[in-house]
Amino acid sequence: MTEARTVLVTGGNRGIGLATARLFADLGHRVAVTARDPKSVDDRIMSVSCDQTDSDAVDAAFEDIESNLGAVQVLVANAGITRDQLLLRMSDEEFSAVIDTNLTGSYRMARRATRAMLRARWGRLIFVSSVVGLLGSAGQVNYAASKAGLVGLARSMARELGSRNITSNIVSPGPVETEMFASLTDDQQTTIIEQVPLGRVARPDEIAETIAFLASDSAAYITGAVIPIDGGLGMGH
Ligand code: NDP
Repeated sequence: MTEARTVLVTGGNRGIGLATARLFADLGHRVAVTARDPKSVDDRIMSVSCDQTDSDAVDAAFEDIESNLGAVQVLVANAGITRDQLLLRMSDEEFSAVIDTNLTGSYRMARRATRAMLRARWGRLIFVSSVVGLLGSAGQVNYAASKAGLVGLARSMARELGSRNITSNIVSPGPVETEMFASLTDDQQTTIIEQVPLGRVARPDEIAETIAFLASDSAAYITGAVIPIDGGLGMGH
């Protein structure tokens, strides 16, 4: 991508989001991150407080970014949570909180972002799903449902917005070395790694590289794609 763009990475104060925000800054773009509790992590990156379960907060965050960096041209919908629980023990709150943050929250951000993208007739929407969205995962019916939902959401946006030169794609990571993965027990981590053909977890920057590619001019003809970055874990899906 040659031209400097305004990029918003949700959930960009740590993990995959922070690695992605830093890579976009390295590439010379104007970068903002949102999170509920955004620590200022990098002088080059604008940190904005935004709980994406709240539409008014989403609108306020976009106004703040627009007045400081210009309209968002690239949205990386990365923020996500887990509330793992076995099906019979899962509460409605645990199910809805994960859907509201991961799926509905990404929808809220994308809906707001497309307003300016439609006017500009240029935009990149990139959603961070997960290998478990298509594989399923015991103890994660809420999380897997939210991540599978992102595929239908992103592909519908690809169809609806394609004629305006807005692409909408999904990256689907396997296990990545972040706080989310560290919160699993040692046994759970070992079991997952044993199933990965490459035999290791990903570094956050390995996810960031594919996201940056999807935002670049080189990916101008890619839309509606689900790109696995999972060491081979999800092969066949
Ligand atoms: P982390 O838990 O390290 O970071 C999650 C980010 O989301 C934080 O910045 C957090 O900030 C933000 N966030 C959570 N809730 C909200 C909210 N309501 N509003 C705004 N921001 C919110 O996650 P990872 O970096 O590990 O994961 C990033 C994405 O990648 C997630 O969508 C995850 O599902 C996905 N993924 C991760 C994998 C892994 O193994 N790590 C594997 C596959 C997919 P704050 O708490 O301050 O709000």
